[in-house]
Amino acid sequence: MKRLATQNLLCLLFVIFVGIRGIYASAQIVAPVGAGASSTNASSSTNGIEYHGGPIIPNPHVYFIWYGNWTGNTALTILPQLISGLSGSPYFNINTTYSDSTGASVTNSVSMRTQVFDSYSQGTVLSDQGLQAVVSQQLTSGGLPTDNSGIYFVLTSADVDESGIGGEFCFRFCGFHTRALLNGSDIKYAFVGNIDRCPNACAASNLGPGPNGNAGADAMANVIVHELSETVTDPDMNAWFHGNLTGEVGDLCNFNFGPEFITSNGAPANVTLGGRNYLIQQNWLNANGGLCTMSFSAPGSPDFSLSVSPNVETIFGGVARFTVALSPLQGSNGVYKFSTSGLPPNAFIAFNPPQLTDSGSTTLSITGLATGTYNITFNVSNSVSPPVTHVASMTLVVAPATLVGIINAILDD
Ligand SMILES: [Zn+2]
Repeated sequence: MKRLATQNLLCLLFVIFVGIRGIYASAQIVAPVGAGASSTNASSSTNGIEYHGGPIIPNPHVYFIWYGNWTGNTALTILPQLISGLSGSPYFNINTTYSDSTGASVTNSVSMRTQVFDSYSQGTVLSDQGLQAVVSQQLTSGGLPTDNSGIYFVLTSADVDESGIGGEFCFRFCGFHTRALLNGSDIKYAFVGNIDRCPNACAASNLGPGPNGNAGADAMANVIVHELSETVTDPDMNAWFHGNLTGEVGDLCNFNFGPEFITSNGAPANVTLGGRNYLIQQNWLNANGGLCTMSFSAPGSPDFSLSVSPNVETIFGGVARFTVALSPLQGSNGVYKFSTSGLPPNAFIAFNPPQLTDSGSTTLSITGLATGTYNITFNVSNSVSPPVTHVASMTLVVAPATLVGIINAILDD
């Protein structure tokens, strides 16, 4: 599978978009790599995105329908934990900058609800009607509740295709969200397929096995958050978007990841949610003039900056030491919580002093490491709710101790 020429695809998207609007309510897609709407420069008056009068979903409830064969796939753990990790996070807090005509805003709360399985009830190629049938069957049978705040994700295994009015999965889209009258209710649902089917078109990165060691699921995480943020801010395709319906919050930052760090298995990531690393795209902030960002804290809420030195250290056995300095940017941050990733479980880690309140520096000591190179991620969260987390990365090289003897021998000469 090849990446499609951007120019060509954008034209097709426009045609599809018009077609969708006229015929089929409308569906909003994640376009493949290189084909998304580019970030738009914000005008000074609108934050670069406009409200069109429709509803939002203030307290979203997420339902997963695992379609096809997911037996033994770690996606079953990685993706529900993504949703739980989003709730209360600085990342999902970006969506709280969107409100409706009554003044209600999206809250920083996402609830992971029921998950069900569907073993190919509509075969291995889903049409748009087949996709609706997958959702409808669950509502009719009571497998899933009919929920006004529900967002129903149909997650298909890598042997399943979706092809409908928006084109074909992997060729015209990586996922989409839409709505339909199902089982007598206006239901918001989304399609996200397993990106093991087309990593070149839809993966967030082709580097490494994915931050959670499951390239397909790690790439789905990116598409899921795109569709989730778009559904809460524009469930009926008449609330928040810029320019036209290809300018929803996710589209404005499509495949735009910002700063990344390298996880212990060599895969890039850009956020830690619920203790797991993910590589998910930035989201459009409806504040401060508008921009793509990974986090938002309300004006005046506590925040801090983090620096680590050195960034790269080489030791010949013994102890590695890094100094971590924290300074408040605004407000009182309380007692900080430290954690590291990228070190093996047998590494011994100590902080001196063990605790920091609001500002100061601590020394991180690491011992017990075998020879090798370690890409370490250092996370610091403050104690406000939701906590604000900042991340720094550093590299530790543990060289063979025998080199010390050689170097000493050379110095003796
Ligand atoms: Zn989109």
